[in-house]
Amino acid sequence: MCDAFLTLAQTDKGLTCFLLPRHRPDDTRNQFYIQRLKNKLGNCSNASSEVEFRGALAWMVGEEGRGVPTIIEMVAMTRFDCMVGSSALMRQALTQASHHCAHRKVGGKLLSEQPLMQNVLADLALESEAALALSLRMGKALDHLDDGHEAKFARLVTAVGKYWICKRAPAMINEAAECMGGAGYVEDSILPRLYREAPVNSTWEGSGNVQCLDVLRALSKEPGVLDVLFSELGDGHGDKRLAAHISQLQAAFKDTGDIQYRARQLTEDIALGLQAKLLLEAGNAAVSDAFIASRLGGAGRVYGALPRGLDVEAIVARSTPQGF
Ligand SMILES: Cc1cc2nc3c(=O)[nH]c(=O)nc-3n(C[C@H](O)[C@H](O)[C@H](O)COP(=O)(O)OP(=O)(O)OC[C@H]3O[C@@H](n4cnc5c(N)ncnc54)[C@H](O)[C@@H]3O)c2cc1C
Repeated sequence: MCDAFLTLAQTDKGLTCFLLPRHRPDDTRNQFYIQRLKNKLGNCSNASSEVEFRGALAWMVGEEGRGVPTIIEMVAMTRFDCMVGSSALMRQALTQASHHCAHRKVGGKLLSEQPLMQNVLADLALESEAALALSLRMGKALDHLDDGHEAKFARLVTAVGKYWICKRAPAMINEAAECMGGAGYVEDSILPRLYREAPVNSTWEGSGNVQCLDVLRALSKEPGVLDVLFSELGDGHGDKRLAAHISQLQAAFKDTGDIQYRARQLTEDIALGLQAKLLLEAGNAAVSDAFIASRLGGAGRVYGALPRGLDVEAIVARSTPQGF
């Protein structure tokens, strides 16, 4: 499908990165042969294949023998793509679910006005808002890599965000489909396609554990990354719950025992702290309060188990498409 491919191949100096074009400069087809298209769970519009290169033309990219560090530059960007892509899948799923519930009456009353559905929709909206906030903060860092703080932030949060946002998406989209009842299981609703697409982002470009190990690598090998994280989190922006979360995170990093075993929990806690901070800064009190109460406080293990006392109506209204 692509006009060019970045690929690794062995030379006398070891693995090296090459750019392989689909067509040669004289417009003839390059010599690569597709042996088989892969039969995938989803992501079907993006063909994946097993290929053979026989006399193919390719240009070396970067230094010979340093293929992995060269291609990793691209991988950092595609990990960001995974964050943005999963945020977008969640937003689309939320849009479909909240629109459906704003129009579907059950027992004579709109679903969007029924307390239990409000709890579910608000929880899905919080996930979507938090994913978008973290993705856009990463986008800002990538736009300012010449700034030391932003470069270190990007180094760490590429792995944190890729792990957390991509992990949250499949269950969130499943729940959004369920808001639409049987219709959400039918292809016309588009939810099945969103659901099939979601898991690929957590697997490719380095799967979950690999991201969490990369978080540990960034924190231990890159000087100043831990300081950047805590200066970014600050003192909790006046919120005691976030301040307590940050203190716990600091204590968790002082204890280096079993650190690989705990890497998923640590990565999750970094992500939640950053998302809470970003939502506080974004200035919608209903959203930030509910996010902090549920993600940093006590809430259930599935979507739709938010604690009491939150302005769920405001959160749902904000996420529901208007005028349709
Ligand atoms: C649709 C699709 C398209 C793809 N396209 C490309 C492409 O264009 N180019 C390309 O190069 N690759 C591509 N990939 C490959 C993809 O990046 C890898 O499949 C993915 O990174 C996982 O690596 P792996 O398959 O080697 O699994 P493995 O490395 O065998 O990992 C298996 C499991 O073990 C975990 N794991 C690995 N190491 C550790 C550890 N030390 N401790 C604990 N757990 C660990 C992983 O997180 C994973 O859950 C594609 C994959 C898919 C699904």
